Amino acid sequence: MHFYGTATRNARGHLAVGGVDVADLAREFGTPLYIMDEALIRRNCRAYVESFREHYPDFDVAYASKAFLCTAMVALAEQEGLALDVVSGGEIATALQAGFPMERTYFHGNNKSGEEIRLALEAGVGRLVVDSTHELHLLEAVAAGAGRRVRILLRVTPGVEAHTHEYISTGQLDSKFGIPIAGGLALAAAREALALPHVELMGFHCHIGSQIFDLQGYRVAAQRMLDLMAAFRSETGSVARELSLGGGLGVRYVEGDRPTSPAELVACISAAVRAGAAERGLPLPRLIVEPGRSIVAEAGTTLYTVGSIKEIPGVRTYLAVDGGMGDNIRPALYQAEYECAVANKLDSPRTRVVTVVGRYCESGDVLLRDVAVAGDVAPGDLLAVFATGAYNFSMASHYNRFPPPPVVFVRDGRADLVVRRQSFAEMAALDLLPERLRSRTAR
Ligand code: PLP
Repeated sequence: MHFYGTATRNARGHLAVGGVDVADLAREFGTPLYIMDEALIRRNCRAYVESFREHYPDFDVAYASKAFLCTAMVALAEQEGLALDVVSGGEIATALQAGFPMERTYFHGNNKSGEEIRLALEAGVGRLVVDSTHELHLLEAVAAGAGRRVRILLRVTPGVEAHTHEYISTGQLDSKFGIPIAGGLALAAAREALALPHVELMGFHCHIGSQIFDLQGYRVAAQRMLDLMAAFRSETGSVARELSLGGGLGVRYVEGDRPTSPAELVACISAAVRAGAAERGLPLPRLIVEPGRSIVAEAGTTLYTVGSIKEIPGVRTYLAVDGGMGDNIRPALYQAEYECAVANKLDSPRTRVVTVVGRYCESGDVLLRDVAVAGDVAPGDLLAVFATGAYNFSMASHYNRFPPPPVVFVRDGRADLVVRRQSFAEMAALDLLPERLRSRTAR
């Protein structure tokens, strides 16, 4: 079994994370429960920042909030010197609640509303990452109304799509995000931005994919972005000072995953941008990355209680837990794979093959297929699913009116609740009953 971060097997044969026995966590906070290994999150943040310090003079590491966000995570990112990538009014509100320095935020989104843009300006976001020419003009109008000049990056699509082991180079990237470099569209949008009095174009942004192991896609994207910056300078006489290469670095979910480390990514893109800028006679831009998954995924463990174990002889054994697609939609959404263990029986031989399912009313509510677990697994045991720190809590739903699990940060033998469990009453508190439905029979 693979132990992530501070996870170990303790003297009781139990899983411990951050020096805390997960059976104690289950007793104190209940299940399902998201456990976040704070030391591992910090280690990942530092890996990015320290590698940049070694390789590149001017940089920003913006944590992609969409991977996992709560007030405590914002505070942690700030302590570690990270900026924040936010994509919604809700993420901005969370950053504000944590007292985050808003000039260190990058506001993304492919369809920001005028109202959201207004809120973002009021909040003082540092950079608006503009996704389309429609947004450019909407922003100009909102900024003019507010009497403000707003710094932007233009999100473009460099025609590189990267997934795990391969990258695909396409002429015109078919994406709902960003403005294609192909056909001169990005350059034309940059020209439009220069002409707008309330917009200050600081540079360009791209994001080429997710769960990327092969760094070649980043190298190719860096070259194309620098080509764009060179064309921008030669055609307009202006210099783009900032270059964001987005997020996307992969992590280990299952045996056989061999991700590249943040240090390797930073060394790779730093070298590519240094060499590429020198070749084109461009000044070194500020280099920005936006890691999400690679900061938090491996730090997360979801803890469940085992309920029914249904054996269909000769077919399959279904092991049901007290969570499922409401706290982890990724298997249903993208056939994502995970590893698990019976957390209170780590010493038992793994002799039973089961399919782990949730308690939601969908046949597709399957968390893991055909995995070997402790042969003596029984109802009431604890099942830990690993590497669930990214896009699990943040994508959690209220389906079947199960509240999403709470989140606990563990570190050095301490456990601190950072998101508490929502009660049924709190969930129903937003419901309203119109007058005509207040009688017990139809009116
Ligand atoms: N930046 C942008 C613009 C994104 O769209 C995403 C993910 O969708 C990220 C950063 C974070 O990516 P990851 O969590 O794969 O690092």
